[in-house]
Amino acid sequence: KIVLGIETSCDDTSAAIVTSDRQILSEVVKSQQEMHEPMGGIVPTLASLGHSRHLPNVICETLDRAQLSISDIDAIAVTRGPGLPPCLPVGLNAAKTLAAVHKKPLIGVHHMEAHALTARLTTPTPFPFMTLLISGGHTLLLTANGLGDYDALGTTLDTAVGEAIDKVARALKLEWEGKSSPGPALERAAALGDPSRFTLPMPLLQRKKSMIAFSFSGLKTSVERQIQDQVQTQQDVYDMAAAFQLTCIQHLEQKLKLALHQEITMQKKPLTALVVSGGVASNALFRSKLEQVAALYDLPLVCPPPKLCTDNGVMIAWAGLERLEAGLLDDYTITTLPRWPIESLKEKNPL
Ligand code: ATP
Ligand code: FE
Repeated sequence: KIVLGIETSCDDTSAAIVTSDRQILSEVVKSQQEMHEPMGGIVPTLASLGHSRHLPNVICETLDRAQLSISDIDAIAVTRGPGLPPCLPVGLNAAKTLAAVHKKPLIGVHHMEAHALTARLTTPTPFPFMTLLISGGHTLLLTANGLGDYDALGTTLDTAVGEAIDKVARALKLEWEGKSSPGPALERAAALGDPSRFTLPMPLLQRKKSMIAFSFSGLKTSVERQIQDQVQTQQDVYDMAAAFQLTCIQHLEQKLKLALHQEITMQKKPLTALVVSGGVASNALFRSKLEQVAALYDLPLVCPPPKLCTDNGVMIAWAGLERLEAGLLDDYTITTLPRWPIESLKEKNPL
């Protein structure tokens, strides 16, 4: 089977064609980073205009690069949510029209399920597994029991880890190339710094010590305050980046250990792996530290390659393939779900 995946939930316009024997036949990403950076972050209405402008050519180029025409495609998968309200309909309407006109099955994909399932594209990983999704909009710890069957163990009480990383990278005035994003710039700066120079508060260490939850806004505010008072030289910038990055990782580690301990003592069917995905999972230090935590519980860490951790069409096409093979198709009448809890995928007749 061959599936075309379309993703327009945030700022990148992307499409890809993936086969059920795990081949990526083509992928195209049109980044909007350069357009939004002067505004200090993503402007949803501008992002939507960018998708409207570029999506037709992105889809055409994806087909051309794979040397396929739409009639060769078995199904069309598209991000239905969660995501920016003005952006999601651009991809969904294109996908619905293509599917209806060419009489192809349509699959509305949950963006976070796609982040989680990408790991199964590169490394076959049977259910159940634990998954930590760390991205620009989410910090979500789940047990994945099966396709569309997720139990949330913990989430962020305030901002997502990726959002905090983006804000801190901007506050440190790090530089990055137009098409890249603040995250890789923070990783590069942190690699040159000493994480022990600055002392930062570890989130949820006091009252909520035994709670499986995350928090990054207090940490972010504390870093922003210290940047004003104490960060002057280039080395100060590197040291602060390193301290902040390490604190984020240690916070994730502490809560992940709580969850793994809880699940391993309770779970009837043993977990097969720890899957870590989402844009922040492209960071090498996050990956290696989380791999060590997984090893403590005799679990392999399964992480998509860095390029597939951030938003892309491949993950949507792959999630579409998994759903197609399970017979989970959608009507041409579906609409977007900008806020869509992943646990509600369990409901038999959603919305
Ligand atoms: P969501 O998936 O929650 O809807 P999103 O789609 O915007 O959000 P992703 O594309 O999955 O998020 O991830 C983007 C986030 O990953 C950004 O916050 C970015 O800074 C962060 N990120 C990307 N690369 C790195 C890196 N090397 N180190 C740290 N963070 C990174
Ligand atoms: Fe994402």
